[in-house]
Amino acid sequence: MRKRLVVLGAGESGVGTAILGKKEGFEVFVSDKGVITDQYKDVLRNFDIQWEEEQHTEAKILNADVVMKSPGIPDKIALVEKLKKAGVKVVSEIEFASAYTTAQIVGITGSNGKTTTTMLTHYILEKGELEVNMAGNIGDSFAKQVAEKDAPVYVLELSSFQLDGIEDFAPHIAVLTNITPDHLDRYEYEFENYIASKFRIAMNQKEEDYFIYDADDSVITEYLDKHPVRSRLLPFSLTKKVENGAYLEEENIIITIDNNIIKMPTTKLAAKGGHNVKNAMAAATVSQLLKIRKTTIRECLENFHGVEHRLENVLKISNVQYINDSKATNVNATFYALDAMKSATVWIVGGVDKGNDYTELYSLVNEKVKAIICLGVDNSKIINAFGNCVDNIVETQSMKEAVNMAYKIAERNENVLLSPACASFDLFKNYEERGRQFKEAVREL
Ligand code: ADP
Repeated sequence: MRKRLVVLGAGESGVGTAILGKKEGFEVFVSDKGVITDQYKDVLRNFDIQWEEEQHTEAKILNADVVMKSPGIPDKIALVEKLKKAGVKVVSEIEFASAYTTAQIVGITGSNGKTTTTMLTHYILEKGELEVNMAGNIGDSFAKQVAEKDAPVYVLELSSFQLDGIEDFAPHIAVLTNITPDHLDRYEYEFENYIASKFRIAMNQKEEDYFIYDADDSVITEYLDKHPVRSRLLPFSLTKKVENGAYLEEENIIITIDNNIIKMPTTKLAAKGGHNVKNAMAAATVSQLLKIRKTTIRECLENFHGVEHRLENVLKISNVQYINDSKATNVNATFYALDAMKSATVWIVGGVDKGNDYTELYSLVNEKVKAIICLGVDNSKIINAFGNCVDNIVETQSMKEAVNMAYKIAERNENVLLSPACASFDLFKNYEERGRQFKEAVREL
């Protein structure tokens, strides 16, 4: 009898899983509690896949052999608990799809830097003439690509939610960029649970696999001391020399893997900031493991300017640099943005606070920020946090107003930085829209 696959959630990963399930001979049923977009309904119809929306009909779900739960659906909802109680396997898209490809997988996770590192790694591997696919939050889902255009290598951006739903998934190369508190609402407000979730990326790795990680991140190193992984460690560090892995020597990145050494000056990196040196180290280490030529790796790092909405240089007007870092939705990302500022900065900040602790920004704000422009519905926490370090704090309610205000305050050779440290949905649809509005407002100055 055909096995029954139920897919919960009809977004990109859900629809992709349904397509792959169908191809692999499952009887597939897709169920979404919300409304399914017309575009995905068309796809489901084209593939002759059964679906429902605005409800979860238990009778059609509890009889599954395997359930793929989309990452946006929490584990705690009653339906998922019922499934688990009934002994039905509930997995993530990554777990389901990886069973149907023999590709070598590079899995990239962390609290910040996933997308940048994933895109940079993919860029280098592609320029190095590997046949390589990329999936995660960008473009087609992993499952859909496995079904329709499988490749021998994948670079996957992995959220902790994707990792929570794995059983056997084992990337040949795992990258852990950093761990700082985020999404704690999904982890019983226990940082330890979130850390453990990120480390699941290595749980099925074997001795012949690799684990690349930030050795300057004490959350990672302390966890690793207590919970060793089986794979081979390749740390990267801005502060200390490592035997195997990547480190800084004067202004050069040195990457060593079994006496094979690659060296490149950080001054030539197109993407600026200490965090981008780290991302470059991680991506170059992966590329070196996959035998990409050193000249190709160097050239790519000189040409990769970063990803939209991540410390993106927008325009220079009257010698003031406008920078869009709308993707900085937590304090740690903003920390690196402020750290990368080389001159006095007018900082646009605010939005929906996910329990931010601003104290780690104090010294950077004291040193670099000449004015704060709050852009959020409720700015009281920011005003309380920084009232003592910055004299000029103003509140605004729209991007246009914020940018116009910044234009008035900033002087020659200074920066205007949008790095909100908060989520965007009080005033914007998402961080992309926030970033686009910023760029538009700057262009209209
Ligand atoms: P993610 O996909 O993990 O959210 P992104 O690459 O989209 O990561 O970057 C998110 C934010 O974090 C941006 O503001 C970016 O400038 C910043 N960032 C990028 N890489 C790092 C890093 N290694 N450490 C800290 N912050 C980073």
